[in-house]
Amino acid sequence: MMDNAEIEQKWLKVKEKLQKKYDANTFDEHFAPIIDVYKYQNGYIFLIVLNEFAKYRLIKFYQKEMNALLAEECEEKCLFSFITTEEVEKEKVANEVVSINQPNPQEKVITERILRPEYTFDNYVTGEANREAFTFSVKVSQSPNVTVNPLYIFGDVGLGKTHLMMAIGHAILQNNINTNVVYTTAQQFAEDFFASKNKNQKNTEVSERFDHYYRSADLLLVDDIQFLTGKPGTQDEFFKLFEILFEKNKQIVITSDRPASELDIMPRLKSRFAWGIPVDVRKPNFELRKSILKRKVLTLLSDPSVVEERVYDYIANSFPENVRELEGGLRRFWAYCVSFNCPFTLDNAIIALESIAKKDNNTTDEKSSALVDRIKEVTVKYFNITIKDLMSDSRKQEYVYARHIIIYILRNRYNFFLKKIGFYLGGKDHATVAHACNRIEDMIKDDSSTKQDIDNILKKIEQKSE
Ligand code: ADP
Ligand code: MG
Repeated sequence: MMDNAEIEQKWLKVKEKLQKKYDANTFDEHFAPIIDVYKYQNGYIFLIVLNEFAKYRLIKFYQKEMNALLAEECEEKCLFSFITTEEVEKEKVANEVVSINQPNPQEKVITERILRPEYTFDNYVTGEANREAFTFSVKVSQSPNVTVNPLYIFGDVGLGKTHLMMAIGHAILQNNINTNVVYTTAQQFAEDFFASKNKNQKNTEVSERFDHYYRSADLLLVDDIQFLTGKPGTQDEFFKLFEILFEKNKQIVITSDRPASELDIMPRLKSRFAWGIPVDVRKPNFELRKSILKRKVLTLLSDPSVVEERVYDYIANSFPENVRELEGGLRRFWAYCVSFNCPFTLDNAIIALESIAKKDNNTTDEKSSALVDRIKEVTVKYFNITIKDLMSDSRKQEYVYARHIIIYILRNRYNFFLKKIGFYLGGKDHATVAHACNRIEDMIKDDSSTKQDIDNILKKIEQKSE
């Protein structure tokens, strides 16, 4: 049985060999996501990796080789296994194992949370939906305790609040590594508080540790504050903490799924939140979703040009609500193509995402129908053709052009799903619809009159709708 120091040693030796073998880029891409040794159990050395995809890649491409290198270091049989930070977290919660870094989990009161390394400003793609939140976050990180306190970031789930908040933490640490950055979720704070109150002999010691941990923060990041709802004791405690830090001029950042005014918590806490600046993150539009996909693909592929352009359109269209799902879609597509060794094409994206891409029901809801009717009406008038021409099978160029414009508008302006657009345009399949969008995009690039047509039509549509 090996002790913890030995395990670390073995991993470091293997790591060295890998470092020699691969060039820096490859090494960083594939092995840098291994952030720590977790434990030794049943002949396995568990390595903590950042996320599922890093883990997947390691297992698929490098596990065998790593185990061979490990065998050179070990007398007894020993293998590497990989565990994600998320799984570690779960395990810790389940409290089933004793991790290397926490020899006495029973005594632990505060669960420290790490800033996810990939949640940096550099990795945050900005657009209209999040520009203000991004700008304020950067400002806060450049001059904490001065500009805005607290910074209150709100918005729906999966739109990048935690990412931004952690990016502030990273940036501040980069300026001064000695800053005491404390990241927690409101839920975690409540649990820590509860544990610190728990009656036992160590009561005072434990509660002092709780106080010290939070009150010594230079930067306090509290995620998902809405979870304080229904916990008056914790709210009270948080209020105290807030006052103490605020007095000391420490920066506080809060995220929430709703504006402070809509939180169901004690009024004095709400009013504190209002002292700072609220910024929201909204749903990304099509362009931003596409940019995010193009950024994320760089973490999966060394040569992103192997992905058909239309794939981004398709994925961006399939997940309009939530960046986490959008990313999930991209990863699923990537994993599919890698596992089945097939090219990164639209056809494969459609197959890979079949079960998860948001299924838009093909039944007409009234609002959409009315909108589509209006768009059709304005467009035919603009081109001086008729609805009948539009919906006919005729391949006459001007009809085709009008159809394509409508498709483009429905998708880019109104975020309709491809399938739904196909339905409204007389049962076209999604590949045809995606193709139409690409055609218009190309035309916009080549000639300004197309853009002009679209703008004119949009203006008319929107005039009418207001
Ligand atoms: P929230 O906290 O709002 O629920 P997260 O911050 O956890 O959302 O974001 C969900 C996922 O989407 C993360 O993987 C994050 O990196 C990614 N993400 C969200 N917005 C962006 C963006 N603008 N640029 C890059 N990635 C983003
Ligand atoms: Mg979050």
